[in-house]
Amino acid sequence: MFVRNACIRLWIDGKAKSRNDLYKHCKTLSDNPEFPWAKKLNSQARQASAERAWASISRFFENCKRQIPGKKGFPKFKKNRPNHGSVEYKQSGYKLSEDRKFINFTDGFKAGCFRLWGTRDLHYYQLNQIKRVRVIRRADGYYVQFLIDHQRIEKREPTNTTIGLDVGLNHFYTDSNGETVDNPRYLRKSERKLKRLQKQVSKKFKKGQPQSNNYKKALARLARKHLQVSRQRKDFAVKTALCVVQSNDLVAYEDLKVKNMVRNQRLAKSISDASWILFREWVEYFGKVYGVATVAVPPHNTSQNCSNCGKKVVKSLSTKTHKCPHCGYVADRDENAARNILEIGLRTVGHTGTYASRENDLCLEGAIPAIKPTQRKRKPKE
Ligand SMILES: [Zn+2]
Repeated sequence: MFVRNACIRLWIDGKAKSRNDLYKHCKTLSDNPEFPWAKKLNSQARQASAERAWASISRFFENCKRQIPGKKGFPKFKKNRPNHGSVEYKQSGYKLSEDRKFINFTDGFKAGCFRLWGTRDLHYYQLNQIKRVRVIRRADGYYVQFLIDHQRIEKREPTNTTIGLDVGLNHFYTDSNGETVDNPRYLRKSERKLKRLQKQVSKKFKKGQPQSNNYKKALARLARKHLQVSRQRKDFAVKTALCVVQSNDLVAYEDLKVKNMVRNQRLAKSISDASWILFREWVEYFGKVYGVATVAVPPHNTSQNCSNCGKKVVKSLSTKTHKCPHCGYVADRDENAARNILEIGLRTVGHTGTYASRENDLCLEGAIPAIKPTQRKRKPKE
């Protein structure tokens, strides 16, 4: 974290133009007698921090170049928060024991040897598949993450079903068959508990004075609860996503803009948004693993249009049922939206598929040199 902040400082001062400049800066930091522990840190761990600093800088440039409206994500200094520190190692600085039950950190900090707990069996992977090792501090202890270079592919039989999902506040999602899935009760219970703990923390906070032990205890309780809730949320997201992907050949959902979602002030809304983002990430991951098409469709008029005849039926947020005056189709508001999402999803996928294969055909025939780029974009005539 220190290294990262130093790198960003260098960049803001206009002294760093490339990733290499940051690497060099790392080297000088480690030779500086003012920061003895910078030398103790494994050189690759230092480099990894510099890399992450550079990644955030180039992300900022990329956002500016593409002229994305709103915040561009100017690189920030990381705050020194006790539960968010992490150290990353590449191939050196640590050593796994023969039985892979222990890890020994061999860099200057002399952290020593630790027993590895957990359910994953590291024997399953080759040592050279472990690309990075990250040590993370969480509210209830230290964790080691292994980044493994391994592609997971699973076989499944086609189910001949497709599904569209609509997110809402009332249900976690409503699908195009009219089925709904709610947030589990334990999650809602935990979220209420979280609010109570948060209140206790703010009650014990004293402005401008050293904080009491009771405050620190309450803070630790809140941090542990946060951790538990985020694990429950992840568990729910993973299980639901796996279920959806395994029982469908195509999953369509709205491509909601994360930026607008997180900015929302209402607590209930922001919690449901956060779970949804997590769920979507897992749907996309499992989609790759199981070879299931996942389509994010633009969220325009999906709740307004009639999924039966396609005509626009304007309704306010409080209207719960979709009643079409043109064709007489009646359905739950969210179900109608989910059916629209599926419809758009199917169209999108069909279109990209034909276009790509056509282009490949042209390549094989060697017809490319004769075609100008502008012409190639046009849809081929049948
Ligand atoms: Zn209609």
